[in-house]
Amino acid sequence: KKVAELIAAGEVVERPCSVVKELVENCIDAGATAVTVEIKNGGVRYIRVTDNGCGIAREDVPTAFLRHATSKVQTEDDLDAISTLGFRGEALASVAAVAHVELITRTSEEPMGTRYCIDGGEETLLEDAGCPKGTTILVRDLFYNTPARMKFLKKDVSEANAVASAVDRIALSHPEVSVKFIRDGKQERMTPGDGKLLSTIHAVFGRQFAQGLLPVDYTLGGVKVSGYISKPSASRPNRSMQSFFINGRYVRTRTAAVALEEACKGSVMVGKFPACVLNLTLNLALVDVNVHPAKIEVRFVNERPIFDAVYHACKNALGADAP
Ligand code: ADP
Ligand code: MG
Repeated sequence: KKVAELIAAGEVVERPCSVVKELVENCIDAGATAVTVEIKNGGVRYIRVTDNGCGIAREDVPTAFLRHATSKVQTEDDLDAISTLGFRGEALASVAAVAHVELITRTSEEPMGTRYCIDGGEETLLEDAGCPKGTTILVRDLFYNTPARMKFLKKDVSEANAVASAVDRIALSHPEVSVKFIRDGKQERMTPGDGKLLSTIHAVFGRQFAQGLLPVDYTLGGVKVSGYISKPSASRPNRSMQSFFINGRYVRTRTAAVALEEACKGSVMVGKFPACVLNLTLNLALVDVNVHPAKIEVRFVNERPIFDAVYHACKNALGADAP
């Protein structure tokens, strides 16, 4: 059982950034409007995620750390619809299997909160804790009991940068949530949580980037495309400033990237690659669910509607910019 736990944990938890992604997604699922992520030493020594969400009731705390014990899937239909979104009830179990985890949480119904410690998958403490409504999870010494995994980690600065990117992606896909990121004691990021994508982009990528954008809002063939693309004069030498989200989840999609680039061809561009923050909203049945939920690369059952929607959405946005 122990070995199986550790192997299963490896599927969800590869690096500090995967831990952070799972923990912050939980905060958002919990209805948080403010989330703080703090890491030390690239997240390997220390990851702390705090939210002001619904909290976890005392009697549900140990259950939350059991594999496949999700509170989010009620019916088989649900399972179908959200399997691509990673609600699989595995994150907390996986993290707890390979680290020292401390949870402090309180729901609004409870006068007293709970402190719970679980080390390498074994519960070590459950006691009262005075705390505000919401949840704090502290993850220390990731992979302390799986040295083989530890060896795959990169230098602290690379791991920290990967965490920063993961935080940015979640922030960009949830402008309604204020996301704060603290690296080694220094606050690096704070999005306003005002629900506006543009001010979130401003907070993440800076003023200059935010000023060089054109709004996109277009629906074609059941695919809604919204967000921002760069003005041709602000295009880039590579794809690093392209962010795509499908139904609120960061993905890499060649189809959408190529559609964007094709649409911008003909405009006089500085670099070959337009930048973008684009949300695609569509029926999940169009997305190939065979792709592992923890991976970000997606394939489409049928690429055509995706390509066409992104292409025409971008053409339309560029047209609006023409003199
Ligand atoms: P999943 O998110 O797939 O349900 P997780 O292992 O990530 O599985 O979390 C297990 C359960 O713990 C969740 O279903 C939820 O009930 C609870 N939980 C985890 N994190 C939080 C949080 N920040 N706030 C409230 N509840 C949480
Ligand atoms: Mg989760």
